[in-house]
Amino acid sequence: MPPIPAVPDPASTDPADVLREVFGYTAFRGHQEAIVEHVVGGGDALVLMPTGGGKSLCYQVPAIARHRAGLGVTVVVSPLIALMHDQVGALEEAGVHAAFLNSTLDSAGAQSVERELLSGRLVMLYAAPERITHPRFLAMLDSLHERGQLSLFAIDEAHCVSQWGHDFREEYLQLGVLAERYAGVPRLALTATADEHTRADILERLQLTQARAFVSSFDRPNIRYTIVEKDNARTQLLRFLREEHEGDAGIVYCQSRRKVDETAEWLSAEGWTALPYHAGLDPDLRRRHQDRFLREDGIVMVATVAFGMGIDKPDVRFVAHLDLPKNIEGYYQETGRGGRDGEPADAWMTYGLADVVNQRRMIDESTAGEDFKRLQVGKLDALLAMCESLECRRQRLLGYFGEQSPPCGNCDNCLHPPARWDATEAARKALSCIYRFRQHSGIGYGAGHLIDVLRGKSTDKTKERGHEQLSTFGIGADLSEAQWRGVIRQLIALGHLASEGEYNTLALTDSARAVLRGEVAIELREPREPLPRTRGSRSKSGSGSQRVPRAAATLDAAGQARFSALKAWRSEVAREHNLPAYIVFNDATLSQMAAEAPDSLSALGGISGVGAKKLEAYGRAILRVIEECAE
Ligand code: ADP
Ligand code: ZN
Repeated sequence: MPPIPAVPDPASTDPADVLREVFGYTAFRGHQEAIVEHVVGGGDALVLMPTGGGKSLCYQVPAIARHRAGLGVTVVVSPLIALMHDQVGALEEAGVHAAFLNSTLDSAGAQSVERELLSGRLVMLYAAPERITHPRFLAMLDSLHERGQLSLFAIDEAHCVSQWGHDFREEYLQLGVLAERYAGVPRLALTATADEHTRADILERLQLTQARAFVSSFDRPNIRYTIVEKDNARTQLLRFLREEHEGDAGIVYCQSRRKVDETAEWLSAEGWTALPYHAGLDPDLRRRHQDRFLREDGIVMVATVAFGMGIDKPDVRFVAHLDLPKNIEGYYQETGRGGRDGEPADAWMTYGLADVVNQRRMIDESTAGEDFKRLQVGKLDALLAMCESLECRRQRLLGYFGEQSPPCGNCDNCLHPPARWDATEAARKALSCIYRFRQHSGIGYGAGHLIDVLRGKSTDKTKERGHEQLSTFGIGADLSEAQWRGVIRQLIALGHLASEGEYNTLALTDSARAVLRGEVAIELREPREPLPRTRGSRSKSGSGSQRVPRAAATLDAAGQARFSALKAWRSEVAREHNLPAYIVFNDATLSQMAAEAPDSLSALGGISGVGAKKLEAYGRAILRVIEECAE
């Protein structure tokens, strides 16, 4: 084998050279290599890869290789204006000439980008979809195309083209024009979420039916899934944060803006650095909060689902849900924002009867068509089945996306198998009590009253309505209130009970009959106290922001000192360049530097994540920081 040159030829069009020289990585991951090869060769592709899987390199490496081969610019379509700035910053840091066009530029700024674009110097241009289909912009693309300088289209977050998806964007529908107008220019669509329906929509609407599909496993093995029964959500959250995530960055999702505000305020009062984020906040404030979350350590973002699309902060250590998401796609997408760096992360949710009732009602009361509602109900049912499951959560989750897998060993059900109990009798008692209500009073009642009657608890209402005379009064005194809530919730989740109208009155469904007759066995999870969790690898030492990040946890004292010094140096550079610190170098790269303490540029260049441009720009400064630590 010929010796590998220390620095690959900066003009090489070989993808492996580009990967090493520009990004400082030694090997492609998963399908990256096959995708890159296919696209460099001019093929169309659909890439499905989970968050953190490495989608960006799938178009960035071909873009660089093709630009070096004289094929011109790659246009990246992205709906995420907030992200473009950071991505372009990261590329420029790596020595790749890139720019973005979006509404944040003034006209002078936009003009200068357009000049760069037409000059052929630009390797990558990020643009919002509505820009791309603008006649003026198309005219520029025409001119590039005529000169053979339009190399590739990358359509990021491609699920936005589908109405079935969860972030539909009208403007994405226009992108079909690229196929017609620039036949012969390869196109690459990428997404982290696509069920069968959405996938078919992407292929059809973007005219990619001839494209090769690269489908990666959706598994995120480093994410631990936990779903706890809602008891007192705030106490439960606080306990989870205190026991597991002191000093970590994370996201707490709530359904309503008001709840976001209240939760953020309460967490702040409890001593956490918690910031609210939702669409009702002033845009400036929202941007400031997002910026702080990206740039500072250990911030807890309390947010509605308006937050998170395209947040590619790699070290989000937990995602907590205080309310039930709409469906599994939403849950998967939101929890997927944790642990992009591959280090352990938690997806934690508290879930209760009211969540089930609320989500069902929101679908009921929406003005959408019946077909759409039915689809939403089906999707909610799949999520509820996962919440109620006694088996591995991950198996359910992946099964939903059409993937078979063995029990994972890294979810609550695998780690602490839930106790089951035969709830057939209890279910029959509850259902028959509801039946009696209708018979006796002609109307239904909500869960609270039902539980009082079952447990034989005398209240004003039980007296007034004459329900103490019902044969079902007190037949369920053997179960606690929490147990009954569990039974009712699970009966709703299983579809044997419906919760209706403004007062959430309970009504039997068709399938309830079989349960009443004892033809269906009901096995439920035992409500339980939250278990103390063991977590061998987690360091609990230190307080708040002083805690040592996992990547550096194995360093000796001298290594720790180097790591701290390198971090301080990195913060300064990040501030100077107005970029998040992880874009300069991520924690994994810094900790490898701290561990190996390289004393030459070539040794430094061998560290994963140190490309040629960064070596040239920062190499000497880093060696100096390391050297000073030795004094
Ligand atoms: P996605 O867009 O799929 O969520 P990214 O493209 O942001 O994921 O990549 C996630 C992280 O993995 C980034 O920090 C990226 O630099 C890193 N990464 C991607 N591919 C490789 C690779 N082949 N070798 C090392 N690190 C990689
Ligand atoms: Zn599992």
